[in-house]
Amino acid sequence: MAQRPYIVGNWKMNGNRAMLSEARAIDRAAQRHMKTEVAIAPPYTLIHAVHREAEQIAVGAQDCHPGEEGAHTGDISATMLADAGAKFVILGHSERRTAHAESNELVREKAESVLAAGMRVIMCCGEDEKTRDAGKAEKFVLGQLRASLPEFQNAAEQLTVAYEPIWAIGTGKTATVEDIEAMHKAIRGLLVELFGEEQGGEVRILYGGSVKPENAREILGAAEVGGALVGGASLTADSFMGIALAA
Ligand code: PGA
Repeated sequence: MAQRPYIVGNWKMNGNRAMLSEARAIDRAAQRHMKTEVAIAPPYTLIHAVHREAEQIAVGAQDCHPGEEGAHTGDISATMLADAGAKFVILGHSERRTAHAESNELVREKAESVLAAGMRVIMCCGEDEKTRDAGKAEKFVLGQLRASLPEFQNAAEQLTVAYEPIWAIGTGKTATVEDIEAMHKAIRGLLVELFGEEQGGEVRILYGGSVKPENAREILGAAEVGGALVGGASLTADSFMGIALAA
């Protein structure tokens, strides 16, 4: 069964209660476009409110602690997120790998806790500019994924991969369609190797990095692109749903 295109908004450290009106507008528009699966990951402070208001879209988180509870000042566990209404967690985003020195191993532990809490994982991967210029992007990304992915009971259902070249995030630069297709095909090969033809073949692979309404059609039309992980352009319902409509 082919999966619907999946468009996920990553609000990063943006959003206050006033922005719940954008979440409501996204939810209403998503109800009219059921061919696309739409979700948003607001900051922790808004997860429960979005969960209560949304009828169609799923709400998720942008990170979690790998443990369940205890003396971890300032941290939030996967079970707490599930309790607040989160249905998925974005893990291994390059901004966390860089600013918080998250290793592949830590990301994998977090993924295990997300699965144990009954949520889905959106696993991010992506190379920096230096690695791409050196011709090592594919090797790097596959190595990162291999080391960050846990085992899944049902990878097709529980896992989404997001390929986000670091140099394209928030920069207005996007990878060429050829480069996106080549990387997504390589990722598909790894998923099939890890999870088998049936499961690995169904996992959606999102592209992320300066996706906007203007370039969404071209990017989402590329082979093996199952949707998009959207940062800046997900902050208003107009631009975010412009992308979802292009899917
Ligand atoms: P961007 O961010 O769309 O603002 O480039 C994408 C992301 O970091 O997920």
